[in-house]
Amino acid sequence: MKYIGHGNKEIVERVLSPIEAKEKIKKIKELKEVVISSRIARECIDIAYGFFTPLEGFMGKEDVNQVCKKMTLKDGTLWSIPIIFDITQQEIKEKGIKEGDTILLRYQDSPFAFFEIEEIFKYSKEEIAQNILGTTDTKHPGVKMLDAFKDTFLGGTITLINTPQFNPPFDKFWYTPRQLRKKFSQKGWKRIVAHQTRNVPHTGHEWLMKGAWFSANGDLPVEKLQTGILVSCIIGPKRVGDYIDEAILLCQHKLHQEGYFRDDIHMVSFVLWDMRYAGPKEAILHAIIRSNLGCTHHMFGRDHAGVGSYYDPYDAHRIFDQIPLSSLNIKPIRILEWWYCPICQEVTYSGLCGHIEHQQKFSGTMIRSIIQDKVQPARLLMRPEVFEKIMETAEHYGFGSPFCSEEYLAQRQPVFELSPL
Ligand SMILES: [Zn+2]
Repeated sequence: MKYIGHGNKEIVERVLSPIEAKEKIKKIKELKEVVISSRIARECIDIAYGFFTPLEGFMGKEDVNQVCKKMTLKDGTLWSIPIIFDITQQEIKEKGIKEGDTILLRYQDSPFAFFEIEEIFKYSKEEIAQNILGTTDTKHPGVKMLDAFKDTFLGGTITLINTPQFNPPFDKFWYTPRQLRKKFSQKGWKRIVAHQTRNVPHTGHEWLMKGAWFSANGDLPVEKLQTGILVSCIIGPKRVGDYIDEAILLCQHKLHQEGYFRDDIHMVSFVLWDMRYAGPKEAILHAIIRSNLGCTHHMFGRDHAGVGSYYDPYDAHRIFDQIPLSSLNIKPIRILEWWYCPICQEVTYSGLCGHIEHQQKFSGTMIRSIIQDKVQPARLLMRPEVFEKIMETAEHYGFGSPFCSEEYLAQRQPVFELSPL
């Protein structure tokens, strides 16, 4: 089946079987090996399975430059965040890596991917930060991440040679873009609206999804539903205090297990991605990735992918006004806030309710502190079954806490593992 993704290109798939990989390794004279970071490993998987279609590898200098200056790849395809392989000049020298080489990338002590190096180059990290994040302030987590990049970049294509084996509960939620598209067509979904999250759901999130479902479903017939919600969780590096990954996935899934969403209109999966907190630019990248997953719509709430006060809360909406509609195969759904109104006595939408002075916003921070004390939040804030699931995952995966602790970060079971080739 031919699946068309971003840039109207066929969904990329660059994966070799272990047998093909071993054959190829034999043919390479003096195989050079590089051990990669977890970020680069995640991005190799994204490239190889087509989450980043049309990219077939890490960017060369002209792509990075155009992404910074024009928000496109060098061929004019919309793209908003550079995908970069960083390495030290010293390692390049020591290993004698040169343009034209095919090197072996190693991860978790196993052969992981082939990297055909087309280009070795340097690019100013400050310039990337200024253009993509709109700041060079080192307090911005995206700037901090870029700062930690090594001094030299490699561009070229990636071929995965080791299929990641996802540990429970991730295995149940792992779908490549091709697998997801197959799933959508089995479900009979004509429209799919993506909900991006790194949270366990409170009722505000639930209403956000419901509102977006109505928007996406629009003029379609309703006797037989053809619109689905894809909860697309971001799984990447964790910091102390974040919800543990397992709680995010299992609690989102719990919403349809308990019927808060019909089973036939809601599903959960995840994308491996290290958030840059690039606000509007990151909103565009999220839209690109979800269009590759086969989604037709993407919801954007307040301050999407933002951090601190670096972006206006609705910058991530307005950036879609700057791009031609034809440059994306997915439509943004712009959403204001859902809150509780004591006059309406219900969760309501800030675009509808007129009792603005009575609004009670959902505070993620407040809900977290209630959960931290192992107290069940009020039903209006969080479904009781979700709270129970949080506590269950805390015991099962979180060393007693639903939030990442030093212990969890050091001893958690990895999201995926590799087998020796
Ligand atoms: Zn009201």
